[in-house]
Amino acid sequence: MTQATLAPSHSHHSHDDHQHHHHEGGHFTHLQCKECGAEYEAKAIHVCELCFGPLEVKYDYDAIRANVSREKIAAGPHSIWRYRDFLPVTSADPIDVGTGMTPLIRANRLGRRLGLKNLYIKNDAVNMPTLSFKDRVVSVALTRARELGFDTVSCASTGNLANSTAAIAAHANLDCCVFIPSDLEAGKVLGTLIYGPTVMAVKGNYDQVNRLCSEVANSHGWGFVNINLRPYYSEGSKTLGFEVAEQLGWKLPDHIVAPLASGSLFTKIYKGFQELIATGLVDAKDVRCSGAQAEGCSPIAEAFRQNRDFITPVKPSTIAKSIAIGNPADGVYAVEQAQKTNGHIETATDAEIIEAMKLLAETEGIFTETAGGTTVAVLKKLAEAGKIDPDEVTVVYITGNGLKTQEAVQSHAGEPLTIEPKLDCFEAALERSRTLDRLEWQQVLV
Ligand SMILES: *Cc1c(COP(=O)(O)O)cnc(C)c1O
Ligand SMILES: [Zn+2]
Repeated sequence: MTQATLAPSHSHHSHDDHQHHHHEGGHFTHLQCKECGAEYEAKAIHVCELCFGPLEVKYDYDAIRANVSREKIAAGPHSIWRYRDFLPVTSADPIDVGTGMTPLIRANRLGRRLGLKNLYIKNDAVNMPTLSFKDRVVSVALTRARELGFDTVSCASTGNLANSTAAIAAHANLDCCVFIPSDLEAGKVLGTLIYGPTVMAVKGNYDQVNRLCSEVANSHGWGFVNINLRPYYSEGSKTLGFEVAEQLGWKLPDHIVAPLASGSLFTKIYKGFQELIATGLVDAKDVRCSGAQAEGCSPIAEAFRQNRDFITPVKPSTIAKSIAIGNPADGVYAVEQAQKTNGHIETATDAEIIEAMKLLAETEGIFTETAGGTTVAVLKKLAEAGKIDPDEVTVVYITGNGLKTQEAVQSHAGEPLTIEPKLDCFEAALERSRTLDRLEWQQVLV
């Protein structure tokens, strides 16, 4: 079996006879194996034919450096496409649904609670169009899919990816068939169905869904955003690094805390920082990178803890379904990055995830999903353990929206006070609630 059959184009590629060339309208030159360095044409291929290592997009940084400036970026679109010089597309009109440029907010109240003086939140809970960071990677992957001639796009999803793929495919008029585990949260399922794709709910966990999808990719020649288009898809996550640097006034933070599913997002934020340094847009700086996993699916954290350079796959069991990948493709690179940057990878239990979702909501007014709960719970652990310096400029990445995982907090957020439409009923209810608050406080105090 050769991965080249995945490309719908008729050109036969070979890793040793092609010439590097600039793609018209883009500064990327080729794909390269992260393990053995073999080079490939920039087609729909994601694993090395020689060693099965993952392929990554390579660029001509001299060309990028000659083309970009802070001013040019600032004058660009209010979306991820202001960084198009760093993205693997050639189109003059990439698919722009307003993805990216989400708020970076100073988190003073949460920071005070955790003893951190310079805490920021990158809030992709309000990313467009489907309220998770996945809109970034899908905007890039589907733009590239269109360039490569695919008319059907697909994905293996833990939920958010299906939402993004279905929505952006609808906008771009691409046929869409997505695969999800059959036990996903209702909000994630409806948030996919509404866009009218074919939805396959597979009786199995994400890793089984993913395996099935690899077979479909081979037999149907569809563009799977996170399989045969994965090298392009993953580059979209770099924009989470670019935006934070720009929003900090073209400075890199001291420390980032981000969730880990496959480990892709985590490694690409760092790649984004390195590219800004390489092209002279920011001053060089060592950024510490810390990662968060749910205890019920923590193969990357486990490898980090044991100082291993390989991942032992696990069977996921956690409410943080969007990051429950038992066999993470970029796990090894995530471990390496945390080690090399003097960061940490920690876990949070389901109870801690729920507590952290409430903490973030009550202190900062941000309702995140379970993945964000995991990240904030780990941020809290690291802060309490002294693993984040109180003065470090720390950015925590909130990657998804709480309205999509309501099940997780449904019975943990209290109930409204139901009253008759009369003033005295309101007064009585208010008095009761104040008494209840006082009682709760007394319980806390004893
Ligand atoms: C997919 C996802 C992630 C992380 O994905 P990676 O595979 O590690 O890139 C984080 N948060 C949310 C909400 C997600 O949906
Ligand atoms: Zn290789």
